[in-house]
Amino acid sequence: MLLKDKIVVITGASRGIGKGIAEVFAREGAHVAFTYSSSEAPAKQLETELKKYGNKIKAFKSDASNFTDCEQLAEAIAQDFGQVDVLINNAGITKDNLLMRMTEADFDDVIRVNLKSVFNMTKAFQRGFLKQRSGSIINISSIVGVKGNAGQANYAASKAGIIGFTKSIALELGSRNIRSNAIAPGFIETEMTDRLDEAVVQQWRDGIPLKRGGTVEDVANACLFFASDLSSYVTGQVLLVDGGMLT
Ligand code: NAP
Repeated sequence: MLLKDKIVVITGASRGIGKGIAEVFAREGAHVAFTYSSSEAPAKQLETELKKYGNKIKAFKSDASNFTDCEQLAEAIAQDFGQVDVLINNAGITKDNLLMRMTEADFDDVIRVNLKSVFNMTKAFQRGFLKQRSGSIINISSIVGVKGNAGQANYAASKAGIIGFTKSIALELGSRNIRSNAIAPGFIETEMTDRLDEAVVQQWRDGIPLKRGGTVEDVANACLFFASDLSSYVTGQVLLVDGGMLT
């Protein structure tokens, strides 16, 4: 029960890593408010599922890339849940292509959903954090934001931007006991990667020192550290959860 009665907000938790974080956090005693942008049915199903832990759980339809949506979300959550302790900016998309073929819309959409969303949400929730003089912000970046990746210039730029944002907020808000850290997952096996050719996936696994892809629980457990008081003296950091891939 590392998060007993902490109030946590997670963006994009209708599936994948966000869903994994919501599950681990609910099990650890947190009250969880999570968002989705269009996947209503899986979000409602997760809401019902997580109620078995006996905490307050609620799914909100809210577009993290929309500034007004995020402000309204912060108000709704404050009324419904009270003061938020942890914000996890997880929502993200990819629109991969070589630069030669990448359209302006592909670039703008990925920057808006992956990076501007982090600004929108942090700005919307910082007022509460400042008032209570505590808070933990966890931003989901990627090893691609550290290393770069051919065919993902838009995604890599958004994820590198998240790291700069995370460190700046750590410097800006540290004196108010508000922490800001990033997690950079490597190759995480989700429903998305299930669709890839097994031979390609095996090649990825073989190239990782720990010889396996990561699980959503691996990422959720790293979030658990940053969300809990175990990390109360840790801010401005980027934790690679990649099985040693970038080592
Ligand atoms: P995913 O399975 O595609 O899930 C993305 C989630 O974000 C969904 O719940 C989706 O809900 C939500 N979402 C998308 N756009 C949104 C928006 N504008 N507003 C609110 N919610 C939105 O992705 P994932 O693999 O779990 O990835 C989660 C995060 O980890 C992303 O930031 C990703 O870049 C990062 N990451 C993933 C990996 C990996 O290997 N999977 C590696 C490194 C980093 P809707 O369907 O309702 O839009």
